[in-house]
Amino acid sequence: MAVHVDTDFFAGSIEVLRTPARGPLELALRPDSAADVRQWFCFDVHDSGARARDLVIRDAGSATYPEGFEDYEAMVSHDGRSWARAETSYDGTDLCIIHEPVGAVTRYAYFAPYALERLERSLGKLAARAGARIDASLVSAEERPVYVATLGNDDAARTIWIIAAQHPGETPALWFMHGLMRRLRRGDRTVKRLLDRTRIGLVPLVNPDGAAHGNLRTSATGANLNRCWENPDAADAPEIAGLLELLDARAPDLFLDVHADEDCAYAFPAGCEGNPSFDDAREEEELALRSDLAAAIPEFVDEPFYEPDAPGEGDLGCAANQIGERHGCLALTLELPVKGGGGGRVRRGWSPKRAARAGERLVDVLLAARERL
Ligand SMILES: [Zn+2]
Repeated sequence: MAVHVDTDFFAGSIEVLRTPARGPLELALRPDSAADVRQWFCFDVHDSGARARDLVIRDAGSATYPEGFEDYEAMVSHDGRSWARAETSYDGTDLCIIHEPVGAVTRYAYFAPYALERLERSLGKLAARAGARIDASLVSAEERPVYVATLGNDDAARTIWIIAAQHPGETPALWFMHGLMRRLRRGDRTVKRLLDRTRIGLVPLVNPDGAAHGNLRTSATGANLNRCWENPDAADAPEIAGLLELLDARAPDLFLDVHADEDCAYAFPAGCEGNPSFDDAREEEELALRSDLAAAIPEFVDEPFYEPDAPGEGDLGCAANQIGERHGCLALTLELPVKGGGGGRVRRGWSPKRAARAGERLVDVLLAARERL
């Protein structure tokens, strides 16, 4: 019976080495479309024989973050909507996923993808139910919309901006934004209090080109957008050049940039301690926000996974550093996990659903932070 592997869809990515009639399917990671970065995969196995066999990614050990495959389980979906973890092993070279089809087509992914169409539906609901204005005028290098949603009180004295998915393969960030938007449109009392007193700007998918291509880190031009914020080139990183203008026009009092980390099994915030203007007052604000995150969202641990930047050594090409420095505001990078959990901190079962629930809970953190701004 014939078997074939398909990547011809949003976020699809893998290279096929061999598809023998029996025995393991042999695959390799495909690099980002214009950069030598590899980790993300997302593909369909069409298997009319529907028999269990191994899928082996032969070069997992030479991925950009090989440790990301330790204690890692791939994600699998039989309908493209609900996702589970698949039995996965890794020996330092090969990543082996046990393929147990229940139908003719099975989708596998590094983490559940989040397509532009789904984002568009979610933004539509945010506009209809929470009065968000959706601006599609900023476009990527390949002219996909970089959607900007604004909601809340336009005359409010405080503005919060939250951006996500500069690194497109870090899809837990998109599910987190999905949950945040779901809570905002539900409009409970906390949401109302927040929106009455705050203007909120959301950019859930900064890098739609990279997401469409199935890239891990880079855009269609091969740019790592989260290194372009100091002096963005409008040709190389139009997404960031445009966002910087928007953020300059309505400066944030709080800025959050949502990512996911390949190696870490829990969520954590990274701060701006390396910024030239970082001082004791800013540190106090950061500590309060970190502790609110850990209190409100079970996956967050108030403990830096990254080595803190030395004073004055922060990379101003990174969004949080640049915005924190440029606007003298509280700015944090939020890192979510990709792995299933482990390490005794996050129990197994990290999933798109849990990432969305974490995003819903961010509203409580935002209101507490708003009171202090
Ligand atoms: Zn990232």
